[in-house]
Amino acid sequence: MEANRINLLGASSEDLLALAAKLNEAPFRARQIFAGIYRRRLSDWKNFSDLGKGLRQRLEEQYTIGYAPAIKTFSSADGTRRYLFEVSPGQRIEAVLIPEPRRDTICISTQVGCAVECIFCVTGKLPMRRNLSPGEIVGQILSLQNDRSSEEKRLNIVIMGMGEPLHNYDNVMKALRLMTDPDGMSISPRRITLSTSGVVPGIEQLAREPIIPNLAISLNATTDEVRDVLIPINQKWNIAALLQACRNFPLERRRRITFEYVLIDRVNDTPADAHRLVELLAGFRKKVNLIPLNSDPWVPLKASGEDRVLAFQKILIDHNITAPVRRPRGDDISAACGMLAGREQPHGDELHLPPRPAHSSTLVRLGL
Ligand code: SAH
Ligand code: SF4
Repeated sequence: MEANRINLLGASSEDLLALAAKLNEAPFRARQIFAGIYRRRLSDWKNFSDLGKGLRQRLEEQYTIGYAPAIKTFSSADGTRRYLFEVSPGQRIEAVLIPEPRRDTICISTQVGCAVECIFCVTGKLPMRRNLSPGEIVGQILSLQNDRSSEEKRLNIVIMGMGEPLHNYDNVMKALRLMTDPDGMSISPRRITLSTSGVVPGIEQLAREPIIPNLAISLNATTDEVRDVLIPINQKWNIAALLQACRNFPLERRRRITFEYVLIDRVNDTPADAHRLVELLAGFRKKVNLIPLNSDPWVPLKASGEDRVLAFQKILIDHNITAPVRRPRGDDISAACGMLAGREQPHGDELHLPPRPAHSSTLVRLGL
């Protein structure tokens, strides 16, 4: 019986209007169900107190509000929590809750694995299995919201977990509509940041959407020679094409583009790189997040040392660029940037996926 029930987690308000019509119910029932799922975060029809008993029973027979179970959670000494969800048998994704004094940040995944295969990222070592559905994307937020210490604090959403969001464009857009709907989760698009490795057609399409989140670009290099190796899709859309798409991206007043720059020892962290970065980003309303590489046995690269990080940062600051150094959160539980791999132990290697040999020739090219 269970297997035949339809899962309504991820349904849009239009889907629920069609459902109400099918059940011969008034349209306002659809709004009540929508608010129950996304605002009140209910998952049991019994708790839909505003629906009549008869309707609740019919819904119970045919529909579920089915969340992927959190099979494990990990708590860091710094308060960060990592959640491991099983979205299908053997397929795992992760989300991270990062509490800060004045706001909480929730980092969510969009794919099981990632096809971009950046050489510095553990997710990129996983085989790309599939896209997440809209329900699986918003389900991560709804699940983690129940674990927040205070709902009074502001909530930021960063689409920076496993996967390349612009490779799962349609489902990510449906999820964004659910996140921002005032009758549902009601999260302002200004509090949502989507990070991409540089899928240019996706950025161009996003620029034409009615709901536009903040845009973060994982730039990570200042020459195509290095970026081609670090982020292979640069071979398709190079730095010039990527920055042109960013220039065309509409920015509301007071908004800016975030450029992420992972600092890798002697690969992309020289003073010449910092000066090139200043040149490349001239004219943008921007912020540059400097992220010293998080290391992992799976990643054959070294983080820049503190002196190199500070020297790089100083060049940006001297050119009036906002450039905070991002210290890892939850690195003791493998929750930091680029570390998400659906692991059951911090830094565990139970997936037994060795680094791909294909990368060795590219490392030679970088002189590593
Ligand atoms: N796929 C998207 C979003 C997820 S990755 C993207 O690439 O933008 C989120 C961020 O983590 C990216 O900015 C990426 O550059 C960074 N990252 C990946 N591996 C990392 C590592 N080992 N150390 C530090 N940051 C890393
Ligand atoms: Fe994919 Fe982003 Fe990791 Fe690159 S950094 S492999 S795009 S998740």
